[in-house]
Amino acid sequence: MTSQDRSPAINNQVQHSVEVASNTDRDLDIPPGCQIRSNVSLKGLTTWKVGGAAQWYLEPRTIAEAQSGLAWARLNDLLITIIGAGSNLLISDRGLAGLVICTRHLRHVTTQFDRETQSIVADAGKMFASIAWQAARRGWGGMEWAAGIPGTLGGAVVMNAGAHEHSTQKILVSADVLNLDGSIETLTALDLGYSYRTSNLQRSSQIVISAKFKLQAASDPGEIQARTYRDLEKRHSKQPYDRPSCGSVFRNPTPEYAAALIENVGLKGFKIGDAEVSTLHANFIINSKDATASDIRELIYYVQSQVKARYSIELEPEVKMLGEF
Ligand code: FAD
Repeated sequence: MTSQDRSPAINNQVQHSVEVASNTDRDLDIPPGCQIRSNVSLKGLTTWKVGGAAQWYLEPRTIAEAQSGLAWARLNDLLITIIGAGSNLLISDRGLAGLVICTRHLRHVTTQFDRETQSIVADAGKMFASIAWQAARRGWGGMEWAAGIPGTLGGAVVMNAGAHEHSTQKILVSADVLNLDGSIETLTALDLGYSYRTSNLQRSSQIVISAKFKLQAASDPGEIQARTYRDLEKRHSKQPYDRPSCGSVFRNPTPEYAAALIENVGLKGFKIGDAEVSTLHANFIINSKDATASDIRELIYYVQSQVKARYSIELEPEVKMLGEF
């Protein structure tokens, strides 16, 4: 972004390279009522527990505060990065220039369950798994698979989070998004251009603020809860849930499975620094102690190179890499 271009770039792309904002070192006037802080470590805000600091950081609690932060970033030519629960992010050790807006506190409105239409409306910062459990307790089916996904609703809508044959796209009715100019728009599932772990929002500058989902009331609510528990237990036995990770690192190159390819090239347990290919599930990279984002990035490259050499298959990362590596 140049100083002539006043519309901020939004940094939610795979392997996005950060352009340094024009006013990195200048003291900026923070708008009243907007809790923007400087030099905030992002390490604890990602499930990999790696990464540097945000030059500027905001956790808006209201839409008005998010609008105010966006206006401030535009005024000051700052890049904007949106993060949710950081469960699908690799943030550079060098941190992120510009304003990082974390949506995890955008959950001021109680989740609404409409029995008549069997629909749920919830805010972007709500944890997707907690919505799944609330639905299960009511005996509503359709989100059992989501109980083990440690991200926010906003992240799930953007990533088209899913498991097995289920995905966000199949239950989403619409999403309300905040545009960079502060206006709010409702997008349908069709507008979002969904495909496997992808949506148009991954290439846009819009912030998801809430979404509506359609589920089905079950004849036997106990069965929905049992299915939700089963799904979670299966994950716990097959995936390293107790270690810092970002879930599956690579998309499955259909009809192959990334985990099988990585295991077949003998990389289970392989380490670079403290970044390690999980011995339980080869498509997970865990932070075994004090890994850096660079260790993880290097291991991702290495895994890609080994699979390419053996199978001529290019593994594509599912995790979003932010900042300069
Ligand atoms: P983040 O990781 O913070 O962000 C992801 C992307 O979404 C970024 O590009 C970010 O800019 C954008 N984003 C986030 N919130 C917003 C918003 N409100 N508006 C606009 N953009 C936004 N994923 C699956 O699909 N299936 C699984 O089974 C699964 N299992 C997992 C298991 C573990 C142990 C872990 C750690 C992760 C797993 N994941 C899985 C990955 C991850 O949980 C999902 O991708 C999740 O949907 C990401 O949500 P988040 O809030 O953490 O988003």
